[in-house]
Amino acid sequence: QSQEFSQVHIDYHAALLALQEHGTRMVCTGKMHTDRICRFDYLCYCSEADEFVFFHSNASVMLPNLGPRRFQPALLDLSSVEDHNTQYFNFLELPAAALKFMPKPVFVPDVTLILNRFNPDNLMHIFHDDLLPIYYTMKQYSDLDDEARLVFMEGWSEGAYFDLYRLLSTKQPLLKEQLKTFGKLMCFTKSYVGLSKMTTWYQYGFVQPQGPKANVLVSGNEIRQFTSFLMQRLNITRVEKMEDDGYIVVFKRSSNRLILNEAELILALAQEFQMRTVTVSLEEQSFDSIIQIISGASMLVSMHGAQMITSMFLPRGAAVVELFPYAVNPEQYTPYKTLASLPGMDLQYVAWRNTIKENTVTFPDRPWDQGGIIHLEKEEQERILASKEVPRHLCCRNPEWLFRIYQDTTVNIASFLDILRETLNTKPNLKKYKVASTVHPGRVREPKCQTSVQATKEAKLSVSWQIPWNLKYLKVKEVKYEVWIQEQGENTYMPYILPHQNYTFTENIKPFTTYLVWVRCIFNKNLLGPFADVLICKT
Ligand code: UDP
Repeated sequence: QSQEFSQVHIDYHAALLALQEHGTRMVCTGKMHTDRICRFDYLCYCSEADEFVFFHSNASVMLPNLGPRRFQPALLDLSSVEDHNTQYFNFLELPAAALKFMPKPVFVPDVTLILNRFNPDNLMHIFHDDLLPIYYTMKQYSDLDDEARLVFMEGWSEGAYFDLYRLLSTKQPLLKEQLKTFGKLMCFTKSYVGLSKMTTWYQYGFVQPQGPKANVLVSGNEIRQFTSFLMQRLNITRVEKMEDDGYIVVFKRSSNRLILNEAELILALAQEFQMRTVTVSLEEQSFDSIIQIISGASMLVSMHGAQMITSMFLPRGAAVVELFPYAVNPEQYTPYKTLASLPGMDLQYVAWRNTIKENTVTFPDRPWDQGGIIHLEKEEQERILASKEVPRHLCCRNPEWLFRIYQDTTVNIASFLDILRETLNTKPNLKKYKVASTVHPGRVREPKCQTSVQATKEAKLSVSWQIPWNLKYLKVKEVKYEVWIQEQGENTYMPYILPHQNYTFTENIKPFTTYLVWVRCIFNKNLLGPFADVLICKT
């Protein structure tokens, strides 16, 4: 990889003139710094000052023009992690006339995506915070194509998984460190700054204890399209298994958070499910070969940890079994449960936790970041040792959490198999797995009501409607309708589930009363359609 941009593809003189005359142009999407992505012409970066520079001229554009609000707290998040104060982006301003006194700029001809990787040492972070958001930000802007240039500004070196980032475009990604080798002033001809957060499903607990994001916007479909893309780039093809040729993968960690009776666990799994059981670990295999193995597996078993992000490569219908050390409540640490449970991900999820203190091995003497606690006051150490569950906490340095999550565990086989038998409704069988439809009903059409008064205390309310327009093109197993009836002025309503396109209500219908009636269609019990316009029905 040459450290020079070929300046032949662009007319250097013309580019310099354009920058001097037009300055920088910026147009962004998003109302807040947390949902903003900006597109720039001629955004520059000064390596000496470590600052991006916006050049003002008569023709420059800055939308939104926030004035000093640009610093409250920032223009945008440079990583996909929301509102993290180490990940903010902003630029300095200069008049374009200042260019005369500055070093000659080097122009980057490629369309560039500028971002921060959040934690490129950790596989969960790599996939969740970087690879998926980069992939879908590139899908959002069509000029961020296969030839786009990625620029990582967080300041880290490549990291152990840089090859994964290389798969996203044909051009070598640039690190912040490398930018200064191009010159004191670099100008990106066309660039996008920031990442889409649309695909993230987990918040790590910086302001409230960790958990699924409040409003998850991604489904298994998008995750699986991304994994298909990666597998294609890695030249991995999912090996289709014959019936009764399923296998189980135990993903082990070799340096910490160990399973102490691995052999016993493997034997138990093989016997219980009558399947081959293999182990993999990042210390012993290449990442590519692990993905190859997982992509054909019927079940993935692992201690809680970042390696479990590879469960996104499992085939539909497979099971994810996550093991938690003593005193760690599985309900509170759910990045992999949330992933497996995304609609359309089609994975079964099971958590097992060690509840037997004798089966855990602690490491109080280790450094604090590997869960050691001897640096704490004696009383605090004793409290932690006596505690049966880590209380809810914030990220990232809670010593009790680190102490417990870095324990080694002997898995109690009986309780482990009990949980599997309870939770897995069937033996994971990929061959029989059917992809469920995700097509929602349209509105019911021509909703109507008719009323009649029978006696001073009795009345009838008949409601009818036509099927949603899209139903005639679909094969739907079960079509039902939901009707809500509310007496005008009341704040409660009666819901009804009905199999047909009309119904006459007599119970609880009063004469000389106004009712509001809503109707919607439901496919296969859980695919809800929109309500039709409300009907106003007077008895
Ligand atoms: N890791 C590993 N084997 C080990 C310990 C860690 O492969 O024995 C990997 C792990 O999958 C992750 C990275 O090293 O990608 C950092 O692990 P850490 O324990 O810091 O984070 P966690 O897995 O708890 O998210």
